[in-house]
Amino acid sequence: MQRLAANWRRAGVSIAFVPTMGCLHDGHLTLVRQARKRIGQKGRVVVSIYVNPTQFGAAEDFTTYPRTLKRDLKLCRETGVDAVFAPNDEEMYPGHRGTPSRRLAATQNFSTFVVEEELSQTMEGASRPGHFRGVTTVVAKLFNIVQPDVAVFGQKDFQQAVVIRRMAANLNFPVQIVVAPTVREPDGLAMSSRNRHLAGNLRRQAPALWRAIQRAQSLVRRSGSIPAPKLKAELKKLMENEPDTRLDYVEFFDPETLKPIGKVRPGTHVALAVFVGKTRLIDNERL
Ligand code: AMP
Repeated sequence: MQRLAANWRRAGVSIAFVPTMGCLHDGHLTLVRQARKRIGQKGRVVVSIYVNPTQFGAAEDFTTYPRTLKRDLKLCRETGVDAVFAPNDEEMYPGHRGTPSRRLAATQNFSTFVVEEELSQTMEGASRPGHFRGVTTVVAKLFNIVQPDVAVFGQKDFQQAVVIRRMAANLNFPVQIVVAPTVREPDGLAMSSRNRHLAGNLRRQAPALWRAIQRAQSLVRRSGSIPAPKLKAELKKLMENEPDTRLDYVEFFDPETLKPIGKVRPGTHVALAVFVGKTRLIDNERL
């Protein structure tokens, strides 16, 4: 992949890149279309498919994460992707045994990690220790391999996009970071590979995240400003209405700095993580 990218670049061809963990859905394909739009017909669009072990905690769903490579390749072909990079663990982390990685796992031949120390501390970072260390490490590696001019990420993982933008700026990656809006199912559920794990009864409860966001939006628009604890309590109650949902966190924050906000106003960002059965879902929007 690195040689292919270098050849393209030598020939003056630009590269747009969409990193994914596979099990592609319309959210991913929207990023691919956005990548094509940015890079034009003369450019190349690269998708990576790699379930990155270093961003999963030991007790998380690395082994059960859905893997559908054959189907993914077909979707990529149909959507006009020029190259798919789907490495294995040994290629990405030499010495790695393909087990769900512990966050400190260094192997014999792999001991260098990239750590963002500010924006990655809250929300997903607080709830999943070591998660962003795995994300920034793998994305830095992928940027060095694919050498993109543009990389497209989804707003669905809002904090991730902000952390990566910071990493790219701080480490001088010559890549423009583009963030595309969240693609939703007709009932508002944000598309996610993990939605596959939701059996009928759980799938029916999953739009609770979107309903919570909408409730926050309408309360803030109606009253102009609401204390964050009050709004949090309100949304927590909404989650408790469903038998199998459990709120992990809900945060109100400034979308640039990710700093928590005490008085929630229009323009404040909300993000939440919710267990629906055993499946952990996240969502966010601007209020
Ligand atoms: P993942 O395969 O879940 O790691 O996601 C790969 C990329 O697709 C990330 O940039 C995600 O933010 C993005 N993505 C995932 N789901 C959606 C969605 N429903 N809408 C837009 N982008 C998404």
